[in-house]
Amino acid sequence: MTAKILDGRAISATILDRVTKEVDEFVREHGRVPVLATVLVGDDPASHTYVRMKANRCAKVGMQSRRIELDATISTETLVAQIRQLSADPEVDGILLQHPVPEHIDERAAFEAIAPSKDVDGVTRTSFATMAFDEGGFHSATPGGIMALLDAYDIPLAGKHAVVVGRSPILGKPVGMLLLARDATVTYCHSRTVALADHIAQADVVVAAVGRPELIRGDWIKPGAVVVDAGYADNSGDVEYDAAAERASWITPVPGGVGPMTIATLIAQTIRAAYEHEREKA
Ligand code: NAP
Repeated sequence: MTAKILDGRAISATILDRVTKEVDEFVREHGRVPVLATVLVGDDPASHTYVRMKANRCAKVGMQSRRIELDATISTETLVAQIRQLSADPEVDGILLQHPVPEHIDERAAFEAIAPSKDVDGVTRTSFATMAFDEGGFHSATPGGIMALLDAYDIPLAGKHAVVVGRSPILGKPVGMLLLARDATVTYCHSRTVALADHIAQADVVVAAVGRPELIRGDWIKPGAVVVDAGYADNSGDVEYDAAAERASWITPVPGGVGPMTIATLIAQTIRAAYEHEREKA
C-alpha cells in the first residue's frame, strides 16, 4: 500500500480563503481590521521564522498583526505585564506568545496572562478546560489543525484506536482530548513508555508529537493506519516517512502537513475572536 497524502497546504489554503471572505465582511460590518498581536522573546531563528510566517498569513487574509519582540533577558514579570497590556487593549483581538520562551521565564505564567477571549492559540488553562469539556472555546492551534485536516479527508475516528506520542500541554495532551471527544479510544505514549513499537503497532491512527527525527519507524505502522506527524526537528518529522508511507493508508508530509494547518487554525480563531469581541460590545 502507498499512503495517500493528507495535504495540509491545500486544506489550509481553503481555510484561509474562507477566512479572507470573513475578514472582508467583518471590515465592512465593523469598520476596523482584526488584529493579532504576536509576542516573540529572544532570537531563536526558528521562532522568528514561525512568527514571520504567521504575520504574513495575517496580511494575506486582510488582518493586521502587531509584532512585539522582546529581549531574551526579559523577566517573567515584565513579559506578564506586557501580555496583560495586550489583553486589556481593545484594539487587539488575538494574542500569540511564540513557544518556546527562554528557559528562565515561567512560560505558564506568561500564557495565563493572555485573556481567554484573546487566546487564539489555545494555550491557557481556560482554553484547555473548555476543550476538554467539549464546550467550544479556542482549540490549541496544532491539535485543532490536526483535527481539521483529518475531517477534511473524512477520516473516521469513532471506535478507532488512536495512539498519541507526546503529552505536552499544547500538543500531545490536547490532541488526545480532541480525539477522545470524537469517540476514538486514545492511548498516550511519552518518554517513559515501555515498548513504544508495540503500542504503535496497535494504532489505527498515530499522532506523533515528540520532536525526535524518525523516532517512529516505518515498519512499526499497522497496515492501513493513518499517520499524522506533527514533529519537526533537524528538518525532519518524528516518523520514518518513506517506510511508513508504504504501510499507511494516509500520511502527512513534513513539511506541508501539520505546520500549515496550525497557522490556518490560529488565523481562523482570530477572526472568530474579533467577531466575539464585537458581539460583546453590542
Ligand atoms: P515537548 O514539550 O518537548 O514534548 C515532547 C513530548 O515528547 C513529551 O511529552 C515527551 O515525553 C515526549 N517524548 C520525548 N522523547 C520521547 C521518546 N523517546 N518516546 C516517546 N515520547 C517521547 O514538545 P512539543 O511542544 O509538544 O512539540 C513536539 C514536536 O512538535 C516538536 O518537534 C515541535 O517542533 C513540533 N511542533 C510542531 C508544530 C507545527 O505546527 N507543526 C507546532 C508545535 C510543535 P515526556 O512528557 O515524558 O517528557
